[in-house]
Amino acid sequence: MTRHENTPVPVEPHGAYVSGVWQPGAGETRTVVDPRTELPVAEVSEASPEQAAAAVAAAAEAGPAWAATSVEERAQALRALAAQLRQDADELRHLVVQELGAPDALAEKLHVGLPATVLDATAEAAGEIAWQRRIGNSSVELEPVGVVAAITPWNYPLHQPVAKLAGALMAGCTMVLKPAEQSALTALGLARAVDRAGLPAGAFNLVLGGPEIGAALVGDPRVDMLSFTGSTEVGRRVGAQVVERCGRVALELGGKSPSIVLDDVSDSRLEAAVKVTLANCFLNSGQTCTAWTRLLVPRSMAGRVEELLATYLARHVPGVTMGPLISKEQAERAERYVAGALNQGARMLRDREAEARRPRTGHYVTPVVLLDVDPSSQVAQEEVFGPVLSVIAYGDEREAVEIANGTRYGLAACVWSDDEERATAVARRIRSGQVDVNGGRFNPLAPFGGFKSSGIGRELGVFGVEHFCEPKSIQY
Ligand code: NAD
Repeated sequence: MTRHENTPVPVEPHGAYVSGVWQPGAGETRTVVDPRTELPVAEVSEASPEQAAAAVAAAAEAGPAWAATSVEERAQALRALAAQLRQDADELRHLVVQELGAPDALAEKLHVGLPATVLDATAEAAGEIAWQRRIGNSSVELEPVGVVAAITPWNYPLHQPVAKLAGALMAGCTMVLKPAEQSALTALGLARAVDRAGLPAGAFNLVLGGPEIGAALVGDPRVDMLSFTGSTEVGRRVGAQVVERCGRVALELGGKSPSIVLDDVSDSRLEAAVKVTLANCFLNSGQTCTAWTRLLVPRSMAGRVEELLATYLARHVPGVTMGPLISKEQAERAERYVAGALNQGARMLRDREAEARRPRTGHYVTPVVLLDVDPSSQVAQEEVFGPVLSVIAYGDEREAVEIANGTRYGLAACVWSDDEERATAVARRIRSGQVDVNGGRFNPLAPFGGFKSSGIGRELGVFGVEHFCEPKSIQY
């Protein structure tokens, strides 16, 4: 791998990490670009399909010994990796900032801080799993699924691989990670931490590359389970291929999540709802699968909501509080959705000062709030993956729930009300994997995943580990 002058952090010059050994990539060379400067950061040598096959073989070979370790040994390994990530935090933060353009504070707290928390939480959750239980005349035991191929996107370049690693390794599986080509350096940083933490050779393997290397893993019959995070389109296709040979799949896909304000909220709660929804929608420059991208408000409150939105929108300034989008294509795509919505009759709020301050180099998009959005319009139905919030007015609670459930997605949601019981009752009617009440905090032990086209399976905590297990019944 060639490092350019503006690369502050040295990373191992390798395209694959197989059986605990770094290998130069024998595949394509790809340039990693800093989305803030549009300058090349590094040239990465990617793995070849043969190296992907060797990585699967290494995971298969390491499988039986890793599966035979005790739950406590595996929990210790996760804790050791968490400690290593904390030790490597500065290096990892640099890599995330450079590849994603994330602001420093976000990179530190969320991108690098969360994965260590997830590893510790998974180790803790392992103690609560019924690895073996008696059901009638059967001993029911959880066995690891086997070899896991993990394919991840670039938007949370450390968290997504770690969420899969935590569940898979805790279950006793071994794995091969194929990270997004846009975030190869952060993945190298993770592999280096795995190496430093002393995990057994072959338990975790890494191959860098694009879709063709992902396809090599998907098509390898020695892969027992595919754990994929990415777009719904790709996930459906690769998932179907694996299911075709009766392999296991976990899919974490897109979302179009609603933030629903109920009609009983006080003005201070309404203010909180607007403020938190904007922050949630624009987190990571809008490149978050769980982002609340639709704000549903009672028609009677639409005027006050618009005032509050205009006030709080000014806090989100590209180049200051917000990073760029990952690429020129993503930035242009977001603007196309905005133009399309305006054509379909929506109105737009965009802070003039923020737009004036937007850096002209880098893939920055000034956040947009679209008002008077038709719930069936394109922008209200499709995932933009940029800083665009659609505001939809509704008549009564029944209509709010109908609109909230009226997309093909079901990943996340939020319900705002002064009456927690009422909010909980509405939360139960929302067809999505997680619902926050009044902005409830993220819980790294709670199952994470989607209903409908948002995916199959769950990550994190007990459910995230069990998804990598096969129950076996032994009768007496
Ligand atoms: P993508 O689907 O294009 O790529 C995701 C990964 O799949 C990458 O590693 C890519 O190289 C690989 N890939 C692409 N084509 C492949 C193929 N034919 N065979 C095998 N692998 C292939 O998604 P993206 O644009 O990188 O990421 C954005 C999407 O990810 C958004 O839709 C977002 O909602 C979703 N996402 C979902 C979650 C979740 O947990 N639900 C989390 C983050 C992102």
